[in-house]
Amino acid sequence: MKRAPYDAIVIGSGITGGWAAKELCERGLRTLVLEAGRDIDPGTDYVEHIQPWQQHFRGWGDRRTLERDQPIQRRCYACDEWSAKFFVNDRDNPYTVAPDQKFEWIRGRQVGGRSIMWGRQVYRMSDLDFEANLKDGHGTDWPIRYADIAPWYDYVERFIGVCGNAEGLDQLPDGRFLPGMALNCAELKVRDALQAKWGRERVLTIGRAAILTENHRGRAACHYCGTCERGCITRSYFSSISSTLPAARATGRLELRPHSTVAAVLHDPRSGLARGVRVIDSRTGAELEFEGRVIFLCASALESTRILLNSTSASFPNGLANSSGELGRNLMDHTMGGGASGRMDGMLDQKSFGNRPNGIYVPRFRNVKNQHPDFLRGYAFQGGAGRSGWGRGSSTPGFGAEFKESLFAQGPWSMGFYGFGECLPRRENFVALDPEVKDRWGIPALRITCKWSDNERAALRDMSVTAAEMLDAAGATNINPYVQDNAPGLTIHEMGTARMGRDRRTSVLNAYNQAHDVPNLFVTDGACMASSGNQNPSITYMALTARAVDHAVGRMKRNEL
Ligand SMILES: Cc1cc2nc3c(=O)[nH]c(=O)nc-3n(C[C@H](O)[C@H](O)[C@H](O)COP(=O)(O)OP(=O)(O)OC[C@H]3O[C@@H](n4cnc5c(N)ncnc54)[C@H](O)[C@@H]3O)c2cc1C
Ligand code: SF4
Repeated sequence: MKRAPYDAIVIGSGITGGWAAKELCERGLRTLVLEAGRDIDPGTDYVEHIQPWQQHFRGWGDRRTLERDQPIQRRCYACDEWSAKFFVNDRDNPYTVAPDQKFEWIRGRQVGGRSIMWGRQVYRMSDLDFEANLKDGHGTDWPIRYADIAPWYDYVERFIGVCGNAEGLDQLPDGRFLPGMALNCAELKVRDALQAKWGRERVLTIGRAAILTENHRGRAACHYCGTCERGCITRSYFSSISSTLPAARATGRLELRPHSTVAAVLHDPRSGLARGVRVIDSRTGAELEFEGRVIFLCASALESTRILLNSTSASFPNGLANSSGELGRNLMDHTMGGGASGRMDGMLDQKSFGNRPNGIYVPRFRNVKNQHPDFLRGYAFQGGAGRSGWGRGSSTPGFGAEFKESLFAQGPWSMGFYGFGECLPRRENFVALDPEVKDRWGIPALRITCKWSDNERAALRDMSVTAAEMLDAAGATNINPYVQDNAPGLTIHEMGTARMGRDRRTSVLNAYNQAHDVPNLFVTDGACMASSGNQNPSITYMALTARAVDHAVGRMKRNEL
């Protein structure tokens, strides 16, 4: 049956899809959101207040089921007995990796996408990031600068609610913050030590997080239960379920269709525009088509790229909007896991308050003013301090009644810095369609070719050195520097593969996330990124999405689209 075309179609309902839906609906467009996964009912699906003793496996997880169905997802720290249901089934959603390589692709397939389980850390990028490609020649120049996106960061932060403290650093612009969460006594001690030794060069601040520290737009302030990756019934952290999708729904213009896996975007060679999408009903396998005037791809970086690669036609035999040949190329993720931990003596009369769902942040200090001899770009630290609890029994020597008794008291303070580093955009890191493997719905799977370069490895090594020296400066003892060997993907900041750029010969999208080749097609998830910065990226995706909708609707209203 032929349906009337929608004004807009959004593919995916996660962090970016929710934003696209809200903005399109609020600007008057009748919008269809197609979501591959099931609907979520917070009343029954959210389990943040369920205690381990209420769980069948007491919180240890159903090892056999996880090994069988989620061998990749279970490597993510947040995929446990409570929240495994928010991560994909790896058997239904396969992908392949080039020989001798590893890529841990962590995904969520449900209404809300990964906005349910995400870590909520939000940091703006700066001109240090937007100018990096131009300055050192890796990748292509971003077609925007900080001034282009700053008002959209403001706009997004005001809506979602971001807590944090302003620090006045050029490399990490301040935002529109709700009150920051409190640092605990050990973190304050480390902060003061860094200030004494490095001044404004190395600054320790409380993490900037999309969590409410006061009631905000009908959502309740956080009550520090601390297990956010299991959902949040009080809507205290930003997710599309708690925030953007209700706003879109309130306009009366949203139609959200779960169980709708988009296989391809359909191209009309006469108009040169995308005319709609081909969808597979994930439950029945039925094929459907939906038409729309404008299409927003928000299925997450690699899924959006997969859809475009699978959208072939005589005009675009190598994938839609791929005249540049860059579609799938320049895949990035952040490195993580260079750092150090140490013991902070004293302060035994103090303890931390509740389960603060946030840590500390030390913004980038490498290659801000002076060039490091071993690597380009930078990294930042997350982490925090805490007192060990009764769980330390497995690592603390002792036995008998006295030992057990001692475990009822909290142990000493320890402090850790955990680095997240920038990844250079490189053509050799790419995704393509696997010639043989298909997913459960018959859509070709991705084949991923990706490895860290010497630059990323050198920065990881440096993280362990600088983390240890900061702990030393703060008087920590038993300092343990480390460099983890985490595979690309596991930081869950996969991006690139349909980059923005000034030149249509070397990029897929223009400065407004609009495909150079197909003017009514917009890609606003992480696929658009021309470089990675070292900041957790989702706030940038949100700001770019809102900005792209503003551009698209403006052009539609002027009859240019
Ligand atoms: C444990 C964890 C911690 C994280 N911590 C942070 C953090 O602290 N800060 C940060 O910035 N980022 C963090 N991230 C990353 C963040 O979640 C992602 O960057 C963000 O969700 C990307 O938004 P998105 O809209 O592109 O994709 P998603 O939120 O993943 O949403 C994509 C949606 O598209 C749907 N979809 C996929 N394919 C199709 C298809 N073919 N048809 C229809 N629908 C489709 C999916 O089902 C999904 O609902 C974290 C992620 C995880 C899992
Ligand atoms: S810690 Fe706060 S944001 Fe996280 S689930 Fe609990 S109330 Fe929600």
